[in-house]
Amino acid sequence: MGNTGPESTVPPAVSGVSGGRLRRAGGDAGQGRVVRTCAGCGRKAAKHELVRFVAPNGVLARSQKGAGRGVYTCTRLSCFERAASRRAFSRTLRRSVRVDPELARFYTERDANG
Ligand SMILES: [Zn+2]
Repeated sequence: MGNTGPESTVPPAVSGVSGGRLRRAGGDAGQGRVVRTCAGCGRKAAKHELVRFVAPNGVLARSQKGAGRGVYTCTRLSCFERAASRRAFSRTLRRSVRVDPELARFYTERDANG
């Protein structure tokens, strides 16, 4: 289900604590929130909520990790198609990229799973 408009719970900042070797077994890497923009609809979202693409060889490929310039879309097929039709991938990556139609399957499969 789409949980739109979540209330972000901000943990209280730990301040004034010195000399303590805190080991947090939390999982929150404390990196701050990395926000990226969807190339299709322009929505801003946390990086991990988006699908990342790279095109190291001029062919668009899905890659959540990896160095280099990336381009992001929401996990919705409509955003992918929109980005593709507007050539937003090429523009964002600053090179001409080939968009494999097979990539759309990732979105449709997710859709099927609800
Ligand atoms: Zn989008």
